[in-house]
Amino acid sequence: MIEEQHTETIPALISHFIQGEFVESLGGGRFETLNPDTNAPLAMVASGEPEDIDRAVASAHEGWQNYWRDMAPKERARYLNRIADGLESATDVMATWDSVDTGIPIHQTRGQISRAADNFRFFAEMATRMTGESFPNAPHFMNYSVRQPIGVAGLITPWNTPLMLETWKIAPCLAAGDTAVLKPAEWSPLTAYRLARIIQEADLPPGVFNMVQGFGESAGAALVRHPRVPLISFIGETTTGQEIMRTGSDFLKRFSMELGGKSPVVVFGDADLDRALDAVLYGIYTLNGERCTAGSRLFVEDRVYDRFVADLSHRIQRIKVGHPLDPETDIGQLIHPEHWARVKSYVDLAPVEGFTVVAGGRRPPDFPQGNYLEPTLLTGVRNDMRVAQEEIFGPVLTVMPFHTEEEAMLWANDVRYGLASYVWTGDVARSQRFAQGIEAGMVWVNSQNVRDLRTPFGGSKWSGFGREGGHYSFDFYTETKTVHVAAGSHPIPRLGI
Ligand code: NAD
Repeated sequence: MIEEQHTETIPALISHFIQGEFVESLGGGRFETLNPDTNAPLAMVASGEPEDIDRAVASAHEGWQNYWRDMAPKERARYLNRIADGLESATDVMATWDSVDTGIPIHQTRGQISRAADNFRFFAEMATRMTGESFPNAPHFMNYSVRQPIGVAGLITPWNTPLMLETWKIAPCLAAGDTAVLKPAEWSPLTAYRLARIIQEADLPPGVFNMVQGFGESAGAALVRHPRVPLISFIGETTTGQEIMRTGSDFLKRFSMELGGKSPVVVFGDADLDRALDAVLYGIYTLNGERCTAGSRLFVEDRVYDRFVADLSHRIQRIKVGHPLDPETDIGQLIHPEHWARVKSYVDLAPVEGFTVVAGGRRPPDFPQGNYLEPTLLTGVRNDMRVAQEEIFGPVLTVMPFHTEEEAMLWANDVRYGLASYVWTGDVARSQRFAQGIEAGMVWVNSQNVRDLRTPFGGSKWSGFGREGGHYSFDFYTETKTVHVAAGSHPIPRLGI
């Protein structure tokens, strides 16, 4: 049963938002965004080109100089809270648009909208708490540091949980006193457009938030190359991050890079196996498996392996694949036919690599069209296989048995990515050894991925660098300036007397 969540129609043209106004591309270019249920066009989208980026950056620069840079943090916080209010009151429409645009089930997109509002509320509060440090050096000096906004930030975001990730960037950027040019992903333009309407209704001064839709190679690259954009905060694939850094290095830009992942989940026999099972299923099959922190490589201690895998297979058969607007659906459609083909191509490596598809791996028989794929479990996997090493970014889980703690750690670390990691054990000391030894930006012990917005979020190795969240976001979005004040007359060597 597909629920009618709201009555707001998706506009025929999804435009840019520059200087407080919705505008088309200067050159009039447009592209189609597809409905992943049918792959028929959902709407036309303005296709941003370098001249549109120029216009957006000029607007953001003016907004920064004229309104935002010198506004009291308390005032900025008021605007951010107003945006959060707007998001909350538009939850139905936002969640519906997010689901039809991305294929993510409605009960999950509802959670994402709520988190998007939380991002604004959290950073509204952080704006008022931003402090410097003092370094008293009596009697000669009083030294202190201040954080200052830097200017225009280019925010480049992916299509998985688009609104949540866009707000994860916009909120700290605005809280810090910078202004934004957002370039949303070309496969998921709808909610960024709707967010711009909320921002317009919140009466944000013109130019403080700008958004240019379009492709990475044109709009995205122009933003990275723009000399008036000192900050690039990027979320996306590792290879795209590398390309962006190459382009931006000519301008010595400051980067925050939240890149791909292939995160291990290690389950020891002494863990609460029922909870571990729930978390494993949640960690790979929610958000259609299109989650950067998905626990996509499962390692299970050999003495409980058979039982755990049997339970997993049993539960996987009962996961409901369906239309994302059906409240009963657990897995909707993958975002795009190209992505569907990419994910499926990994499953099709079975005869080449020698693993076994024990559950799923096919288009569900009830869905002859659209980007539907069954939740998939692969066994007989070796850690050097492509399915164990490369980010698949879909509902595909590999599982391997291990015998010793050392072996589990070795295999968990033997991958180029280092974003998230998860360990399940009843042994506190072992959980701490694991937390120390794992090569990842984040470790969850006996827990699925539960976020605390105060903590630093980010990856190591090929999963990127820089941390955002809490005050760590301000390390990226502000410049730390040190002021040295002489108090009295410290000795000054006198030359040339
Ligand atoms: P992507 O790298 O293809 O695209 C991301 C964004 O970059 C899009 O807006 C795209 O238009 C833009 N882009 C592409 N080429 C560009 C260029 N040359 N210059 C400037 N911009 C360019 O990623 P995707 O497929 O949209 O997203 C999936 C990826 O994102 C996965 O690898 C996933 O792990 C990663 N991700 C990471 C995190 C994290 O926090 N580490 C969070 C979510 C997603």
